[in-house]
Amino acid sequence: MTERAAIALGSNLGDRLQNLRAARELLKKLSAPNGDLLQAPIYQTAPVACPEGSPDFYNTVLEISYAGTPHELLDATQAIEFHLGRLPGTERNAPRVVDLDILYLGEATETGGLLELPHPRLTSRRFVLQPLADIRPELILPGDGVTIAEHLSHLDTDEPPLALVQGAW
Ligand code: ADP
Ligand code: MG
Repeated sequence: MTERAAIALGSNLGDRLQNLRAARELLKKLSAPNGDLLQAPIYQTAPVACPEGSPDFYNTVLEISYAGTPHELLDATQAIEFHLGRLPGTERNAPRVVDLDILYLGEATETGGLLELPHPRLTSRRFVLQPLADIRPELILPGDGVTIAEHLSHLDTDEPPLALVQGAW
């Protein structure tokens, strides 16, 4: 069965735009044939809870169609991170070439293990909610009662505002 899957992309090392484009091309290869790719604009955000001197992040969200299981998708996204040069086992939140976080896969829910779905910090991070709201404002996550747009409008954090880098990329 094919489900819609959203993936949050982040990069704050090297050529950030090029890194996001390379990740997008590899995610396209994962997606089921004939599935539309939805693509949010790229935003720039100051790093949160990162080592001093960390460069700003480029962040965006893509939604693809995916025909495998949640853990197969995690394996595949981790393989892409590795392929694009992310070094495993470095300091937590250290600058990274690319970070791929699975936000949801259809109605799947996973807790407690190596994979949590929907992503537990999705609704508390502006740099995830804003681009997701750009492509799926009316979406209600599994187990939730309000839309993504409503989560964004009620978000109350100390996060710095996002700067739009580019809409088309
Ligand atoms: P972060 O994304 O929080 O900055 P990492 O990318 O290093 O940190 O992820 C750490 C671990 O988070 C991964 O090894 C993975 O097992 C786990 N994880 C749990 N849920 C998810 C999810 N929905 N998407 C991606 N990784 C997840
Ligand atoms: Mg991650």
